[in-house]
Amino acid sequence: MLVCYRTYADYRGIFANQALDTLHNAGAQVWTQLAKETGSSMEQWREWTGGTFEAFLHHLSDASNKLGDEIGRALTYHTGEMTHGGTFRCVDCETHVTLKQPAHLPPCPKCHKTEFRRA
Ligand SMILES: [Zn+2]
Repeated sequence: MLVCYRTYADYRGIFANQALDTLHNAGAQVWTQLAKETGSSMEQWREWTGGTFEAFLHHLSDASNKLGDEIGRALTYHTGEMTHGGTFRCVDCETHVTLKQPAHLPPCPKCHKTEFRRA
């Protein structure tokens, strides 16, 4: 490239514009080519890395949902279940049921549903 500029400098005069055009065209081709190559790389990056990352996120989301479901099940108390006592919140209507001593969990006094969480 440096050689081209020196050559151009030597061509002052009648060939100057022509040389400049030639240089410009050559430069434009290089940049176009570079852009094409970069574009191609970006496309491949998006295809490989993006796809993998997306799959990873989906996997993470699935795992997180499953874990959330399991924790939810583990934390859910059902009517008739023996508990150590304490305050429970109806999953449906948020009504609180307090058991002062170990006892079987009754149905919700308000909506009669049977699933509770500790309040
Ligand atoms: Zn309820």
